[in-house]
Amino acid sequence: MAKKRKGLIEQLKALIGLEKEPELMGAMCYETHMPSFVTLKCDQCGMEKEYDQFLMTEDDEIIATVQQIQALGYDAKVLRTCAACANKMGFKYKDGTPLLDSVMYCIFYFKNKGQAEYHVTRSEDPDDYKAVLAFLKKEDRFYDRNEALHWVADNKEEIKRMTGITF
Ligand SMILES: [Zn+2]
Repeated sequence: MAKKRKGLIEQLKALIGLEKEPELMGAMCYETHMPSFVTLKCDQCGMEKEYDQFLMTEDDEIIATVQQIQALGYDAKVLRTCAACANKMGFKYKDGTPLLDSVMYCIFYFKNKGQAEYHVTRSEDPDDYKAVLAFLKKEDRFYDRNEALHWVADNKEEIKRMTGITF
């Protein structure tokens, strides 16, 4: 009996040893994703934090699209916002859960011509911004970030949500 139990403990130790093998874990990590960190500052509260670049949204594309919206004469801006600020502003995931701290969020501010207050929404999807830009340029279609062509009319709901414009 005692011998059998000792054998089992040895087996368990070997198993734990194998699972903790750092080289094995390291090799797996390198295969899938090599972490690379960037320090980003929240545009709302100024807090700086390190983020895993792999988890970042396509912010540069969003910023470039918003610059094109501004060039059309619209008062628009996008603020890269930390989870704490975005949660304070009342933004949530679609299922109603609070936003996680691991990524930054893009808060879009838009004023239609003659509008006094900003319409404020959250979107980290560059295609939402591309749809808005095409709509404001009175174009009927646009290319998404994968070079796929979309009809502006098919994105009515996103455009309404992003701009507050009803049409
Ligand atoms: Zn913040």
